[in-house]
Amino acid sequence: MSRILRRLLSHSSTGTSTPRAIEQLTSRVTLIRALPSGPFSKEDSNTYLVGEGAQRILIDTGTGHPSYLPTLAGYLKEKDASLSHILLTHAHGNHTHGLVAIWRTFGTALPVYKLKSSQDDIKLSGNNKTKAEPKPSFLKDGQTIRSLDGSSSLKVLHTPGHSQDSVCFHLLEEDSMFTGDAVSSAPHGPTRPTHAVFEDLDAYRRSLQKITRQFPKILYPGHGALVANPTAYLESARECQNVLALAIHNILGQSGKPMSAEAIAVEIDQAQQLRLSDIELPVLIGTVKHHLLEMEAQTFIRRSHGLESESSRAGTTNGSGVDPSKLKGPGGLTLEQIYSKVTESNRRDWSDMNRQERSQVLDQTSWREQQHPLHVRIPLRKETTWVLA
Ligand SMILES: [Zn+2]
Repeated sequence: MSRILRRLLSHSSTGTSTPRAIEQLTSRVTLIRALPSGPFSKEDSNTYLVGEGAQRILIDTGTGHPSYLPTLAGYLKEKDASLSHILLTHAHGNHTHGLVAIWRTFGTALPVYKLKSSQDDIKLSGNNKTKAEPKPSFLKDGQTIRSLDGSSSLKVLHTPGHSQDSVCFHLLEEDSMFTGDAVSSAPHGPTRPTHAVFEDLDAYRRSLQKITRQFPKILYPGHGALVANPTAYLESARECQNVLALAIHNILGQSGKPMSAEAIAVEIDQAQQLRLSDIELPVLIGTVKHHLLEMEAQTFIRRSHGLESESSRAGTTNGSGVDPSKLKGPGGLTLEQIYSKVTESNRRDWSDMNRQERSQVLDQTSWREQQHPLHVRIPLRKETTWVLA
């Protein structure tokens, strides 16, 4: 085992020990963790500084938790360094909500890069709506970004699935890869069905293969511990989805009556003794829905009754010429109004909130955000039920 790998492995977080805010992983890579902040981040988000000289590249900007910026600035000051670029793995708030504050602190000439997405205007300004906002430059698949000192080259790999705009950054000098949420590093590893969160199952699978074909030696994910055995890890992430598809098929076969995605997820939870939390179960229900749609397309299963109203709603909000900023979701709120409620809740420290308080705020903001027409990605009603074809 190489010296670098041994050092990296000694940094892998194990079990329940509290991870440190800053960890220098290699001479080129420093991990800076952002604590959870707001209803959309339930866990730490990883950000990474890349480079060796006085100008570092920052990959992702954290959750917007107030402790992050002083930690980042303090570390850079200690190293007599500053930022040359900000790269975003994707536009989800728990990776971008720190952006505006960092950009203001380190100078508004600081270039910001990401892959183009139809959601950029909403997501990037997110809960920090201000007059001055970074305008990102758009990355291209295969493009390489180099640190100003020449020590580090990051090749862009478009890896949709988790989100359409997800990219990985391949650090060529170390053969390591920053994966954002394209690959999740959950405490229970890829064998837990709630491990992966994706909006497109087929794209997610293809992106896992695309990453595997680069043969990276280490993965640096957007959450959790680094992955020191990428090939096996990515293989088990793919296999987990196959096992889940088979379990869904078996449950429908044995049930003999129509079942909803929720009922199937509850059955999987019980049969596999997963004991999913209130946060994890909805994730599994979402994953089951993706599989049901795929199995329907493969004609293995069919709906026991239709969902015309839901399909037509998705149709009217896409490409219909309606100004998305005027679209109203639950409570008659536009997405911007929903985000301003998120801003309010972001001022609170979520780690200090009890379970009931958290779920109250989640009910008010996250649910509204998820149900907003711009965010209805899975055209299924909760009560839609399925049978084997
Ligand atoms: Zn994400």
